[in-house]
Amino acid sequence: MQRRSLLAAMALIPVFQMAVPGAAIAAEKKVKVAATFDAMAEIAKAVGGNRVTVSTLIPPGVEPHEYSPRPGDMRGLAGADLVIKNGLGLEPWTEKALKASGNGRAKIVVASQGVTPMKIGAAIDPHLWISPSGAILEAENIAKALEAADPAGAAVYKKNLAAFASGIKAASDAFRKAAAGSKNRTFVTGHAAFGYLCRDFGLKQVSVENVYAEGEPSARQLAELVSFCRKNHVKTVFAEELASPAVSRTLARECGAKVVPIYTMESPEDKLSFTARMSQNLKHIAESFR
Ligand SMILES: [Zn+2]
Repeated sequence: MQRRSLLAAMALIPVFQMAVPGAAIAAEKKVKVAATFDAMAEIAKAVGGNRVTVSTLIPPGVEPHEYSPRPGDMRGLAGADLVIKNGLGLEPWTEKALKASGNGRAKIVVASQGVTPMKIGAAIDPHLWISPSGAILEAENIAKALEAADPAGAAVYKKNLAAFASGIKAASDAFRKAAAGSKNRTFVTGHAAFGYLCRDFGLKQVSVENVYAEGEPSARQLAELVSFCRKNHVKTVFAEELASPAVSRTLARECGAKVVPIYTMESPEDKLSFTARMSQNLKHIAESFR
């Protein structure tokens, strides 16, 4: 009887009194993050852990290049504390959409802040997150913003950031080891999304589409790609879910290469985490050099 009343008394202790770092946090106390697209959402979740709720503005399967906000997609902005975007010209609509949402207090975080931008022709290449060093820089900027919004979580964000960075570094180190000694440093992919990754490792990308993933190549461009692949004995053509996978398959068939998936993290892919996709990309690129 006594034991039962003790248990009953314990059940009455409010949850918040037992709060310890890393323990469950009430939903209303979490930092509400609206991320523009999948990569930003995934990095925010990795760094924010259980202290944040993250919504993604651009829906799954929708290409972030040339995207224009639809009101239904922007619901996450209304209650957001932080809006996380990549920047580098990828989401020029963010400020206007936030204003239109009536949320006057959310802070916009530009995750790419501090990078030396790369150019493709006259345009800025936005694909920083696909590079290991870029992903870590973006995670650091996101961690800083989360810490400013929620100083009580500083230790948690620091720990989560270290874990994220160490996962990315492990994938990067494995790549350097696997690709060491490969004379071939060129790979063929869907759209020119791998510039920063190439800069990290001294590689070269050849793509079916340009940097904006706009439109399929002309017959002449495709013929040039086929001739490039034949001349360079390309054995692997990487295909992306959102950028002309059918053209990549045609190209592979024409030059006797195999098709291997590559991830741009612009949308959810194969239910894999950000780090898992980064690791797969690097592993497959290294394999394609052999
Ligand atoms: Zn892209």
